Amino acid sequence: MKTHLRILTLAAALCVGLFTAIAADKHDHAHKATPKGGRLLDKTEPHAEFVVEKDRTVTINFYNDEMKAVPVTTQTITAIADAKSGKATLQFEKKGDSLVSKAKLPDGEGYNVVVQFKQTADAKPVNLRFKLDLATCGECKRAEYACTCDH
Ligand SMILES: [Zn+2]
Repeated sequence: MKTHLRILTLAAALCVGLFTAIAADKHDHAHKATPKGGRLLDKTEPHAEFVVEKDRTVTINFYNDEMKAVPVTTQTITAIADAKSGKATLQFEKKGDSLVSKAKLPDGEGYNVVVQFKQTADAKPVNLRFKLDLATCGECKRAEYACTCDH
């Protein structure tokens, strides 16, 4: 009888531990999920989202801390795609509340993209580098370049 109780207690303790781990994971994501399924660019204020559209153009959307869309103001962006076919520089123009690339990303994927972000025309540019991986993540169902999982 005593052994049974001990096993039950142990099982209960394990369960609590497991649930706590799951709950903590939900709140401690490495990357915030963005509304349009793109990649949240670190160190940008308001938060900039890098979205690869179906036609391979890139849209940059902006969000406040509550992840509500805010219009682009003084921010400018240049993206450099280090594709196998050679480096391609994408310039962006304002379209509505967002910035939209004038050219498309080069064919293929798995190459590095460097986003040069400037808060204002005179600000120091911030370089954000990531790999363009368009495969769908099995866990969060987002494209790998925008994956919100902690791996
Ligand atoms: Zn994921």
